[in-house]
Amino acid sequence: MAITEIEQLEKILPLRDEERAWKEKGESTLPLLISDTLIPLLSLPEIRKQFVPTVMENEDRIGNLDPQEESAHQGTGRLVHRYHNRAAFYTTDRCFAYCRHCFRRRFTGHLSGPAAYEEIEEAALYIKAHNEIKEVLLTGGDMFTLSDEHIDRMLSIFKEKCPDVIFRLCTRAVAVFPERFTKKLMEIIRQHNSGAPFFLMTQFNHPAELTEEAVKAVSSFVDIGIPAFNQSVLLQGVNDDEATLIALSEKLLTARIKPYYLFQDDPVQGTAHFRVSIERGLEIERNIRKELSGLGMPQYTADLPQGGGKVILTHAYYKGCTPDGRYLFETPDGETRYYPE
Ligand SMILES: *Cc1c(COP(=O)(O)O)cnc(C)c1O
Ligand code: SF4
Repeated sequence: MAITEIEQLEKILPLRDEERAWKEKGESTLPLLISDTLIPLLSLPEIRKQFVPTVMENEDRIGNLDPQEESAHQGTGRLVHRYHNRAAFYTTDRCFAYCRHCFRRRFTGHLSGPAAYEEIEEAALYIKAHNEIKEVLLTGGDMFTLSDEHIDRMLSIFKEKCPDVIFRLCTRAVAVFPERFTKKLMEIIRQHNSGAPFFLMTQFNHPAELTEEAVKAVSSFVDIGIPAFNQSVLLQGVNDDEATLIALSEKLLTARIKPYYLFQDDPVQGTAHFRVSIERGLEIERNIRKELSGLGMPQYTADLPQGGGKVILTHAYYKGCTPDGRYLFETPDGETRYYPE
């Protein structure tokens, strides 16, 4: 039984005042939902902070609910076409657990429910008509909260109309509800896995989320030829230290998941208590790069306000041109090197 009420949570976890007060304030933009899988992990502060709400969510007045202005770049009702060659389709607003740092609070958990087949058809036609679109993210919410039947139909529609488009299956369910990936569901996915490839996009933020069950769920994709990439969010009190991020990357690689992005937490209203400064983020980025292989290193990235798009944040190793025409670099260890022109 998933947890949806503070009273249920109180019975298994002694709550702090600021956690209990979340409900009393009652203005949160995101419902409470904690899956069974997460319950044994709530004893870890890094997991608790991601899923147990606090009153700080309601007190944050800095952020904006739609900093990326996704609503201004809508191609069709549920399709956001912000980048020339790729688009994102919101399959549903539901998830198996709601992350308190969710950057899509404007939409998540607000009962708009699964995309109707007409909306899927409409999006597929839009994508087909815009042949510059090479990749589509099936996101949400979490597409795997849809029924097997709904997923089957959705993939049929997209694959039939857009056989040459790469679809990214974006999900946190492998971490928070791995039992979802039954033989039956995986058989449906396997049947549609022809033409342009699928990519699995996961969200693991802390090494403890890579439980045996989670790793098995990801393997069920990788074993049928679907590569897995992970997008983490840099979160204060969860993973804002080098050792945690290094352990996360190592565990991801062992699970055959390539660390892809490490996102700067967007300035979404209700998430200020998760924010890490960009200065500290850049310091972390520089430090972990020294310890991780190229395979293990995620790209530290910010999604700029007003639909500005994603930019990579990295320490600047190139320092410019010298007066005698050589290139000046700083090495990862902080030494100086010149590179002939
Ligand atoms: C992040 C994002 C993408 C995908 O961007 P990549 O850098 O290719 O991972 C596509 N569309 C939207 C609206 C996005 O926010
Ligand atoms: S799984 Fe994604 S969409 Fe759902 S609550 Fe977490 S961050 Fe938001």
